[in-house]
Formats: sequence, C-alpha cells, structure tokens
Amino acid sequence: MLDFHCHSNYSDGAHSLDELMDMAIVNNLAVIALTDHDCLEGIEPFIQLGQQRQVKVISGVELSVNWKKKDIHIVGLNFDYKHAEITKAISYQSEQRIIRAKAMCEALSFLKIPDLYQQALDLTTTGYITRPHIAQVLINSGICKSMDQAFDYYLKRGKPGYVHTAWLSLQQAVAAIVDSGGIAVIAHPLKYQLSATKLNQLIEAFIACGGKAIEVVSGRMPANQINQMAQKCNHYRLYASSGSDFHRKGQYGSDLGLQSSLPESVRSVYQLIREEL
Ligand code: AMP
Ligand code: MN
Ligand code: MN
Ligand code: MN
Repeated sequence: MLDFHCHSNYSDGAHSLDELMDMAIVNNLAVIALTDHDCLEGIEPFIQLGQQRQVKVISGVELSVNWKKKDIHIVGLNFDYKHAEITKAISYQSEQRIIRAKAMCEALSFLKIPDLYQQALDLTTTGYITRPHIAQVLINSGICKSMDQAFDYYLKRGKPGYVHTAWLSLQQAVAAIVDSGGIAVIAHPLKYQLSATKLNQLIEAFIACGGKAIEVVSGRMPANQINQMAQKCNHYRLYASSGSDFHRKGQYGSDLGLQSSLPESVRSVYQLIREEL
C-alpha cells in the first residue's frame, strides 16, 4: 500500500506527524509522502519517524497555483526539499498565504468575530493559515455549523471571504519541483469543475511545463471516475499517482492509504520514484 497525498496539522490536517505515522503502520503502508499545502516543514521530521518505524517516507508538497482563473493544486514528490528552487517557491507561497489570511479576515470583519486573524493563527502549528483554519473559527464562534457550510457561505470563490491570491503560476510551480529533482503531479484533476476541453488544456499546459503525472486515484472516488482518469493518464503518456488526500477522519478524503488501488492499465509514478530510492 502507498499514499502519495496526505496532510498533517502542519497545514490543514487534524493529526500530528506521530499520529499519521501510527495510522500508516496500522493501515500497512510501505511508502508515504506527506503533502502539506505550501509547506515543507513536516518532511524532515516525518522522514525521521519513518526511519524509526520502517516506513519509507518520500518528500512531498501540495502547491497552490493560479491557472486561467482557477485554483489548481500541484503535488511535488521525491524532490530535494533543501534545494533552493523549492525553498524559494515555498517562501513566496508563505508570504502570499499571510497576506491572503489578513485580507480574508478583513473581508469577513462584518461578522464581528473578535480577533479572527489571531484565533485562526492560534489553530495552526506552523503559522500558515489555511481556509479550514478560518472555517474552524467560524464554527467555534457559532456562525457556521460545519466546514462545508463555512466554505459554501463564506470561503469559496465568489463568497465574501474569498480573496484572490497571487499564487505561483503553473509553470513556476512545476519548475520549482522539477528543478529540485522531483516529479510534478496534477492533484485531484476532477475537483476543479473543468470542462473536458479545459481539463485537456490544463494537462497539455502541465506537460509543456515538465509535468509527468496525474492523480488517477484521489481519496474516495467512484470506479467510473478512476477509469476515466486512467484513460486520460495513458492517452497523455503520463504516470499515475494515488493518494488519500487524508485530512481527518470522516472528511472527503479516504482514510490514510485506504484509497482504491490504481488500475492495472496505468504506469504508477512509484516506478519512477523507486528507480531513485
Ligand atoms: P487553502 O489552501 O487555504 O485555500 O485551503 C484549501 C483547503 O480547504 C483544501 O485543501 C481542502 O482541504 C479544504 N477545503 C476546500 N473546500 C472545502 C469544503 N467545501 N469543505 C471543507 N474543506 C474544504
Ligand atoms: Mn487541504
Ligand atoms: Mn488539494
Ligand atoms: Mn490535499
């Protein structure tokens, strides 16, 4: 079993690195990549935990990207996490995240939540505020009943707390991963509500930038969608990645490492990675 997409409380996951490693062992994972949003800080301690507990950990990250007015996520796998290209990219993303969080809190000031920014900050481990942190404050303040409601009413694109963020471009994100020796992967390609034509355009632009893989399996996904992504993957001669997108139990991701397995028809991205291990 392997899992190349999951989150800890270093970004918007609920669990510590220790708890994730416990789950990786219970769920019998041989290889795992932690892919926190725009954050590299968990990688080294997670690799060390893996060494202690005989689970192979590869480096990972999930970069937020602007592409044609859409927020797209690009996963990076098996890169040198100390390489200047990726660390520079992450410093830039972190700055944008802080600017955005302040702007979001300002945009939501009509809700009159005392110290919204500070409350969100207090929920983070690393100081980088994600939308789920702000959603949690809205829930704690009694304004929203659930994460879904907080996103639907306040945080998704078009809602009052949504703020455009100057994330890296697709090209910059893929380059930062590839120049650091890693593999770039389009995360959850069916989550962006792109038309078939737009999704093809995204994949073609991504390949032109040096991207090599797409997530054929992401979290809980119906078999017909997995087959659709497998065909897409093979059509474009890409490698297939697979991840739970686990954040917390019961959310839209599957439990850690328990996503469906990749169809036999695709070439797993792990083939590429294994050659380097
Ligand atoms: P951010 O990177 O700060 O924009 O936060 C994006 C994260 O919010 C995603 O990675 C998801 O984990 C989470 N998210 C997005 N939409 C929803 C939703 N409707 N309900 C709960 N969490 C969501
Ligand atoms: Mn997330
Ligand atoms: Mn994502
Ligand atoms: Mn994710």
